[in-house]
Amino acid sequence: MTDGVPKEILIINPLELVFDKKNQIVRRSLDKDTKEWSPELDTSLPINSSDIPNFKEWVNWNGFLFDRETKKGHNGFDFAAYVTTDNRVVLGLSEDTKIRAVADGVVKQVLDTPEAVGGGYGIMINIEHGADDSGMFSTYVHVRPTVYFGVTVKKGDVIGELYKDPKGDEGRLVHLHLSLVSGWGTRGTSIMGGGMHIRTDDPGVIDPSIYKLNAIPQGSSNFSLLDLPNAKVEIANFKQIRVNSG
Ligand SMILES: [Zn+2]
Repeated sequence: MTDGVPKEILIINPLELVFDKKNQIVRRSLDKDTKEWSPELDTSLPINSSDIPNFKEWVNWNGFLFDRETKKGHNGFDFAAYVTTDNRVVLGLSEDTKIRAVADGVVKQVLDTPEAVGGGYGIMINIEHGADDSGMFSTYVHVRPTVYFGVTVKKGDVIGELYKDPKGDEGRLVHLHLSLVSGWGTRGTSIMGGGMHIRTDDPGVIDPSIYKLNAIPQGSSNFSLLDLPNAKVEIANFKQIRVNSG
């Protein structure tokens, strides 16, 4: 790494990064040409409901900016909890759940953020949509990728599967974190760290129905649903889980 490489890049372990001729990671700030995530883009949700047995509806368990009063931020939507066709409430997905591109695009980054070097956010895939350099990305975290840098994907294409923390039966809840990013500098930059002049948009622009059933309280494994007050929450895939870890 040379002088001028952003510090936040140093804590990641990229499988693929792109550098310019001076060995600098290419990045760009927001400017008047920055595109925004657009509801007009042809999109679908990143998980097919037919891939989950007895799936009925998603639960907003840990949604976008879920606690506005305490300003507790969460820059995406966690696909973690759902209601089944027989009205059971399940928290935690199967680790082989297929993850799909939400729109046509190009894979611009696949990277890991190991805990040992200050990351710990998990493996993430970043796909750019629209025109090249649009700055409009979807970000998928906690995914074992089956795609790599430069691959062109179509809406609904499988890009990976969820995975379970290598911590036995205790560890991070198996879920997908989906962020929509606007104005992110392109090619090889990172959303890690501050000062990147990015903005995260609400995944509800893809499908507002993900917010229909709200977990109360948000982000807690002891949540309940106003619409299903008697339904017990079942924790899947773990005996004990660490919640609110992204
Ligand atoms: Zn999350």
